[in-house]
Amino acid sequence: VTTARILDGRTLAAELRADLSARSAALRARGIVPRLIVVVVGADPASAAYVRSIERVAEKVGVALAVDALPLDASDRDIRERLIARSADPAVHGLMLQQPLPPGRSIRKIADAIAPEKDVDGSNPVNQGRLAFGAGTALVPATPAAVMLLLERSAKWPLAGREAVVVGRSAVVGLPVSLLLVGERATVTVTHRATVDLHAHVGRAEVLVVAAGVPGLIHGSWLRPGATVIDVGTTVVDGALAGDVDFASAAETAGELTPVPGGVGPVTNVALLRNVLVAAERLATSLN
Ligand code: NAD
Repeated sequence: VTTARILDGRTLAAELRADLSARSAALRARGIVPRLIVVVVGADPASAAYVRSIERVAEKVGVALAVDALPLDASDRDIRERLIARSADPAVHGLMLQQPLPPGRSIRKIADAIAPEKDVDGSNPVNQGRLAFGAGTALVPATPAAVMLLLERSAKWPLAGREAVVVGRSAVVGLPVSLLLVGERATVTVTHRATVDLHAHVGRAEVLVVAAGVPGLIHGSWLRPGATVIDVGTTVVDGALAGDVDFASAAETAGELTPVPGGVGPVTNVALLRNVLVAAERLATSLN
């Protein structure tokens, strides 16, 4: 029996797109075409599908998007040089390096080559540092921003004093989500591969954010009844996207739940394009 309210990312994304279209039209009226470059290394099929989904939304909201493809064997130096060149181009407002990178390449050795003011996925250490410092950055990484946009519309908002548990501690999702939750004054537990008794931690969560990349990792029977569950996981299983939460069982115990697909993913695309517009607006102001 499904009792959980479904947090529908597609509907939220459609609502948020209207504001983005208006902002890009305002920029275009001033002769500025907001432009995003996505640098892709190699040819990962999941990455290619993600980039196509960004392209579709970019077209809807009036952001120009170009993919800059590098070969699978590109070195850290090759990737950095490309990012530095694109950062220097005044026609580019947003620059993103698509993850996951090929084996052996580490975002931590590359991300500082993206100019902080064009770093629309918030991966430059300057923007990561601003987030950790609580100083506020306009360019919050897109997936964590999407998680917060969904939570803002949940029954658990505001989060002050809530028990929040995050599964995963990656630089692109788990850790920045944890920082944003702390910023909202939730009581935050960050779990990961080395966590002992994940089940016990998950069972305390009023708000659970799962970003592990392990299909079906969290069973509904683990959940605190009524929990709000945000499933970030996207793994291709038999040609279809699978989340980290077992949807059928979770729908019986959770209070609110995001589906996969149709939850975090569509909102992430909108959060990324919103960052492109923020960057373009700021760059336009700094030129005046
Ligand atoms: P990652 O592999 O970099 O990090 C995974 C994290 O999960 C690690 O911190 C690891 O310690 C933890 N983990 C793995 N197995 C675990 C287990 N059994 N128990 C507890 N913790 C465990 O992955 P990532 O880049 O953070 O992405 C996570 C998932 O989110 C992936 O499925 C990815 O495809 C998806 N993702 C979705 C979006 C979106 O917009 N929907 C965006 C980015 C990533």
